Amino acid sequence: MDPINTLTEIFRHFPGIGPRQAKRFVYYLLNQNPDSLKKLTEQILALKKNIRQCADCFRYFNNSYASPNNLCRICQDSSRDESSLMLVERDIDLEAVEKAGSYRGYYFVLGGNIPILDKEPRKKIRENDLLKLIGQKGSRLQELIIATSANAEGDNTADYLKSLLAEPAQKYHFKISLLGRGLSTGSELEYADPETIKNALNNRHSQN
Ligand SMILES: [Zn+2]
Repeated sequence: MDPINTLTEIFRHFPGIGPRQAKRFVYYLLNQNPDSLKKLTEQILALKKNIRQCADCFRYFNNSYASPNNLCRICQDSSRDESSLMLVERDIDLEAVEKAGSYRGYYFVLGGNIPILDKEPRKKIRENDLLKLIGQKGSRLQELIIATSANAEGDNTADYLKSLLAEPAQKYHFKISLLGRGLSTGSELEYADPETIKNALNNRHSQN
């Protein structure tokens, strides 16, 4: 394959990118000067070198403030509310909630969502890591907030989590709540404005 097609094929696998957009990226790059292309490749290579994944919440974080226990800034912050854990689909959702500024508990990044009728839901989210973290927190955990997107996949993921966590919730006595639907249907947390996220948090409702 020629370089244009090879690179198009690579971009096509990026989230939300179709073949036409992928090709547009390639032509955009062809129009850049060698210096900026060099900078871009350096930044891509630096991604894996300087970014680590948090051992607790699994978000990616910049390793410039090397933490010996491999925890991100949020998970290291002992002034946060340890009784509360929020489950989000992706890093970008965590960032949106954090930016809204009204949540002071900890997070866990599921790493995706579960499409309806999916045959292997366990492979779509970090199920074992979540159960492990809940076990570590034990009875210090009082509330687990499921903050998946307000769309079909998000709702399906929330349903799956509710049944998965019913047993640990009983064992450790924490309540499970869902974000209030101040979020308009179909919307992803990532695109919600801070005010909407605040309202969704305030209007969360208990599931058990
Ligand atoms: Zn973390």
